[in-house]
Amino acid sequence: MEPMNKIRVLPEIVANKIAAGEIVERPASVVKELVENALDARCRSIHISVASGGKRLIQVRDDGEGMNEDDAILAFEHHATSKLQTAEDLNAIATLGFRGEALASIASVSRLNLKTRCADPADISGTEIEIQGGILRSVKPVSWDKGTEISVRDLFFNTPARRKFLRSHNTELGHITRLATHYALANPGIRFTLASDGRVLLDAVAVTDVKERIYQVFGELFLKNMVELSGQSGAVKIAGFSSYPYEQRTNPYSQFFYVNGRMIRDKVISSAVRQAYRNSMPSSAYPIVILFLELPFDEVDVNAHPAKTEIRFRDANTVHGLVQRTIERALTASAGVPSFLHRAAPQPLAGLEAFTKDSMVREGGYAAEERSLDFRPHTLQAALGQNPLSYPFGEADGSQGKDPNHSSLNVVPEMLFRASGDTKNKFQFEDLRILGQLRDSYIIACDRDGLLIIDQHVAHERILYEKLAAAMQSGAVETQGLVVPLTLELAPHQVARLEKLMPEFNKNGFQVELFGSSSILVRSVPAIAGEADCRRLISEILDGLDMENRTLDVETIKDRIAIRTACQAAIKVNTPLTPEKMQWLLDELSRTRIPTNCPHGRPIILRFSMHEIERNFGRS
Ligand code: ADP
Ligand code: MG
Repeated sequence: MEPMNKIRVLPEIVANKIAAGEIVERPASVVKELVENALDARCRSIHISVASGGKRLIQVRDDGEGMNEDDAILAFEHHATSKLQTAEDLNAIATLGFRGEALASIASVSRLNLKTRCADPADISGTEIEIQGGILRSVKPVSWDKGTEISVRDLFFNTPARRKFLRSHNTELGHITRLATHYALANPGIRFTLASDGRVLLDAVAVTDVKERIYQVFGELFLKNMVELSGQSGAVKIAGFSSYPYEQRTNPYSQFFYVNGRMIRDKVISSAVRQAYRNSMPSSAYPIVILFLELPFDEVDVNAHPAKTEIRFRDANTVHGLVQRTIERALTASAGVPSFLHRAAPQPLAGLEAFTKDSMVREGGYAAEERSLDFRPHTLQAALGQNPLSYPFGEADGSQGKDPNHSSLNVVPEMLFRASGDTKNKFQFEDLRILGQLRDSYIIACDRDGLLIIDQHVAHERILYEKLAAAMQSGAVETQGLVVPLTLELAPHQVARLEKLMPEFNKNGFQVELFGSSSILVRSVPAIAGEADCRRLISEILDGLDMENRTLDVETIKDRIAIRTACQAAIKVNTPLTPEKMQWLLDELSRTRIPTNCPHGRPIILRFSMHEIERNFGRS
C-alpha cells in the first residue's frame, strides 16, 4: 500500500502567491516597491498614476537606467536582483531593494505590463512584457524611451480572499498618497507626480533641498512651525525638522523617519522623539517631525522585515541619545514665540486633522472632495490625513547616499547636514519692558520687535514646573506637612493605579499612605504647592494618568506629578500683580529652559511684531 504522506511541496504558483502576501499587502505596497525600484534605477523623475485607489490600476513610470530584454524577463524570477551578489553584501545594503522578490510577487497577483529600455546602444528597441497571475503571456519589442513603466492592473484578481480585504478607494488612495509624499520628501532632486483617476494630487518639480520640497508638499505655514535641526554622534548623523511644541497632533502620522534614505517605522526613534518633547507637551500629544538619519550601512540591518519598513540598529543607544539631544537642543535654541496673526489664522496644519474620514468623500463618489481638490498643499494633506487607521507600512523611500556608484543621485540627507539650527527666532528677554497688566490676567510688555502679551498663569506654571522637575531629578523636593492630614476616597480606577503611584508620590514631595482599601491619607505635599487644593491636585494626578493609554513608566508619573502640581500652584488668571511681581515673573521665566511654552505645549507669549503692526497701519 502507498504510504499516505500528508506533507506536500506546494506547486510554484501557489508558493508565489503565498510569498506575495508578505510583500503585497495592498495597492500602496505595490507603489512602494515600484517607486523603490525607480529610485534604485537612478531616475530623475517618477510619475505615479492610479485608478480606483490603485485597485484597478497602478502605473509607475521612471526615466532611470531601464533593462534590456534578458534582464526584463529575469526580473520576474524569484530572488532575481541586480543589487546583491554575495551573502556579505547583505551586511551593508546601499539600495532600497535587495531581495529580488518584489516584481515576482506583484506579477503573481495581478495583470502586469512592463515597458522598458536601457541606454545600451546595442538595444535597438525597448521591451514589452505581459504577465498574468504569474504566467508569462508575451515578450515583444516596443518603441520606448529610456526608462521603465510598469502597469499593474486588477490587483489580487486571482486571490479573491485578499481582494476582499482591500478598503475603500479613498482609504487605499490615502495610503498611496502618504507613501508618495514620503518618497518625495526624501528625494527633492527628483520630480514626483501622483495622479488619481486623472486628477493630479501631487506635482513636485525637482528642487535643490529638502526644505524647498517640504514647502512644495506642505506649504509655507508648515515650515513656519518647524525648527530645523542637525547633529552628529560618531558616524551617526541626523538632520531634519521638528515642530514647535504648540503644534500638536493626536496621532503619529506626521512623524517621518528616514534611515539612509529609507522610510521606516522605528520604536527607538519614536521613543527618543517623545522623550525630547516630554517637558513641553503632554504625553498624549505628538509633535510633527521629519528626521533623516545617516549611518554607515553596516550599522543597520535592513533585512529585518518583509516589507523592509523596520530595521535594527547595531547601536540603538547612540541613535536614541542623538535623536533626543538634537531635538531638545533645537527646541531650546529657537524657542519661538507665535504671533497673534499666526494664532488667529486658521491652524496651519488643520488639514491633517480637519479632513477626517467623515468629511472626506465617501466610497464611489468624489463630490465632497471636488471643492477642495484644487491641489494646494492642504489638498494633499487632506488625502494624507484621511487615514486615521494604522500606519500601513512605514513606507520606505529613496536615495542612497553612500554607494559611490550612486553618487549622481540627489542625496537629500547630505544637503540637510550643512544646515545649522536657526536661532533667529530665539526669544530674548533682555530688552523687555513691562507696560502693564490686562484684565488682571496678562502681562503686556514690549521689546525691540514689537508688542508682547504674556499669560501670567502659564508663565508661572512653566517656572514652577521646571523647578519641581529639577528638584525631582536630584531627589530633593521640598515638602510641607499638612496641619490636618487629608483623607481621600479613591474611585476604583484610581485604586488600581495606586500600587505603582505611591512610591513615586512619596519620593517626590508627597507623603501618602493607604487608608483602608479605597482611600489614602495625605500627610504632606510639595512645598511649592503650598495652599493649593491638594484634594483636587492628587485626584487630577491620578485621573490624568489613568486616561493615558501609554505604558505607565516612572518618568511619565513623575512628569504628571510635576505638571499638575505646577498648574495647581501657579498664579491664577484674574489675579492683580504689582509691577515688581510681574518683573519677578518675567525674570524667572527668562531662566527657564523653554520660556515660550507651558508643559502642555500652550504658548506663554504672543507677539505682535513691528512688521505686523506697521502692515496693519498701512505703513509697509
Ligand atoms: P530588487 O529591487 O530587490 O532587486 P525587484 O523584484 O524589485 O527586486 O526587481 C528585480 C530587478 O529588476 C532589480 O534588481 C532591477 O535590476 C530590475 N528592475 C526593477 N525595476 C526596475 C526599474 N524601474 N528600472 C530598472 N531596473 C529595474
Ligand atoms: Mg525592488
